[in-house]
Amino acid sequence: MIMNIGFDLDKVLISYPPLVPGRMIDKLYKKKANGVLLYRIPSTPEQWLRKLSHIPALRRPIRENLHVLEELSRKDHKLYLISSRFKFLEPETTKLVKKHGIDRLFDGLYFNYDNLQPHEFKNAVIKKLHLDIYVDDDLHLLNYVSRQQNGIRFYWLSDDKKAVSPNKKIQKIARLSDLFPHPS
Ligand SMILES: [Mg+2]
Repeated sequence: MIMNIGFDLDKVLISYPPLVPGRMIDKLYKKKANGVLLYRIPSTPEQWLRKLSHIPALRRPIRENLHVLEELSRKDHKLYLISSRFKFLEPETTKLVKKHGIDRLFDGLYFNYDNLQPHEFKNAVIKKLHLDIYVDDDLHLLNYVSRQQNGIRFYWLSDDKKAVSPNKKIQKIARLSDLFPHPS
């Protein structure tokens, strides 16, 4: 069966910068006000700092996941990259995606260059593309989207061995090959 499959970029295909705890980066971007998910668009000086942490050399590809993508792209599935990176990161993002050949693996690339709230941006794109499967490392975002849409299989990519998905519409995986085992 040919499927429409969507993937997030950061921490799915590309790692966070070394030596910076992922939780710290997540905290900088995300806050929860009265249980409502809200992401922050950084101020101008902070954007420059953020741009430094996004220089492509500091963002190593997650090779094992990229290999899975390469195999999938040889099949007939439709593959989409959906990243909520903001407009101020467009130059770094374009460079990164070209550098690792990520643009060639997908049938469509969607970036949040209109600076919408990430969960709302992704929810709209996922709906528009009629996805069968969507993979992301952001559990809060997956919780939100899975409440808005039915008939999609959501996968939460997390290397935290102890973490358990709190939502039965979302299945936890440690790597992409858990979901798409190699044929060999
Ligand atoms: Mg991510």
